[in-house]
Amino acid sequence: MLGLMQDWPLLLHKIIDHAAIFHGDREVVTQTPEGTVERSNYRRIDSRARKLSEALLARGIGMGDRIATLAWNTARHLESWYGIAGVGAVYHTLNPRLFPDQIVWIANHAGDRALFFDVAFAELVARIAPQLETVEFFVALSDREHLPDIGIPNLVAYEDFIAPMSDSFAWREFDEHTACGLCYTSGTTGKPKGVLYSHRSNTLLAMMACATDTLGLSSRDTMLPVVPMFHANAWGIAFAAPMTGAKLVLPGPRLDGASLCRLFADEKVTMTAAVPTVWLAALNYLEETGKTLPALKKVLIGGAAAPRAMIEIFEKKYGVEVVHSWGMTEMSPLGSLGTLKAGIADLSWEKKLDYKVKQGHPPFGVEMKITDAENRELPRDGKTFGRLKVRGPAVAKSYFRGDGPGAFDAEGWFDTGDVGTLDRDGYMTITDRAKDVIKSGGEWISSIEIENLAVCHPAIAEAAVIGVPHPKWDERPLLIVVLKPGQTATKGDILAFLSGKIATWWIPDEVVFIDAIPHSATGKVQKVALRERFAGYRLPG
Ligand code: ADP
Repeated sequence: MLGLMQDWPLLLHKIIDHAAIFHGDREVVTQTPEGTVERSNYRRIDSRARKLSEALLARGIGMGDRIATLAWNTARHLESWYGIAGVGAVYHTLNPRLFPDQIVWIANHAGDRALFFDVAFAELVARIAPQLETVEFFVALSDREHLPDIGIPNLVAYEDFIAPMSDSFAWREFDEHTACGLCYTSGTTGKPKGVLYSHRSNTLLAMMACATDTLGLSSRDTMLPVVPMFHANAWGIAFAAPMTGAKLVLPGPRLDGASLCRLFADEKVTMTAAVPTVWLAALNYLEETGKTLPALKKVLIGGAAAPRAMIEIFEKKYGVEVVHSWGMTEMSPLGSLGTLKAGIADLSWEKKLDYKVKQGHPPFGVEMKITDAENRELPRDGKTFGRLKVRGPAVAKSYFRGDGPGAFDAEGWFDTGDVGTLDRDGYMTITDRAKDVIKSGGEWISSIEIENLAVCHPAIAEAAVIGVPHPKWDERPLLIVVLKPGQTATKGDILAFLSGKIATWWIPDEVVFIDAIPHSATGKVQKVALRERFAGYRLPG
């Protein structure tokens, strides 16, 4: 017997409609490249997104067409996502931090029919335009006055594109499984692969994100997503914020410590989200200026491991709760979040910190297990580590165009490529990416754990650990550090600092000092580049 409840498809435009009707005056603030702010609200975002939908239909764009965006977090970019998805087309976020050749490869692989771009990327667009095989027209996210003169055909200003259209356009209705968004993995682990989100998966993701033990976003919050919309679906915030009626503050291209901290204060931001490298810069700025974060209540840190020292500074010095989260593009991207469960929340500060450093527990909608190389499930004892596998309604079941089929098994589990442990309370700890674990004497050493400890040393700004060949042990850890400006530390100091905190056989064989650690387009340490740089490295003795 079937239930007798309504068939109400989970479509993205229902989210922005809900925001427009029930939270219509709630602001969406954009920081311009010049550092001033522009104010909009959900009612306006909704009506302008409808105009965009109509304009796209008039240009022959419809179901399943991919429309690329090359843009920072701004109100126009947000409208574009909803307007594109509103006709059954697919917003495809391109990461401007990639090399131009990679962007071209991804846009051609996706078969994008149009490209929406920030004026800041005009030069880049002019350079790559001749190589974009399927792009028919370009939309600059600006008014006519700011339309860049870059000599490419079929270029129109966004404001001119939507101006003649009506804001009473009726959204198209279609199946909730219809594709709405496309984001390529940044290729940290090989060729970029496309992850194709659906209206249903993004809506469920947003519902998951709002839950108290996930982001805990409410209509009283002001959310500033530093995480760019082109990185992993903006962690669901572009949907979760309008779903709850939270005010949105979009920082545009200015992501430096000073600009962010000014926005936090001016707009009374209560919640924010970014990768650890962003917070390194922001915390340095606060330290240098003596400023504080009076309105900020919660910071979401994910995309790479949040070091213990960073969590401690946020919580103790600035009174900001840290929610350490793990996820990936393939998971829309929320996988687990480190809110404290009953019992754990009453532990001593140091013990609570032990939990906050872990990558958190999965929300409803994410199934998680660890397995050995033969796909046998391993115990949830907090000690045994294995390959982390996940499934759920917002987890990819295949890559775009069928790439990388090996990551998915017959039972629907997706192999994340990460190695980790699960404990009895459901908390997961990432040991490493599978290809970054250091295999020493038949056992595994976690590079992340050593890195996290190393950055607690007062003189160390950033650290990375890679495995280097060893005649007896196969591989041994090499610790690569960048010191804070004006600070000194020797190999002996650093190894003494680590001693007693990890097993003796995990202590790195050598410490090397370099000026800067390379980062990927999504702000992660580029282990591949470090391994190349230290390819011929021989350990002393
Ligand atoms: P890409 O894989 O293209 O670099 P993603 O943003 O999808 O881009 O990266 C997902 C990966 O980032 C995860 O598989 C994991 O290795 C790493 N990661 C994400 N969050 C964390 C975290 N909190 N701690 C450690 N690693 C993390």
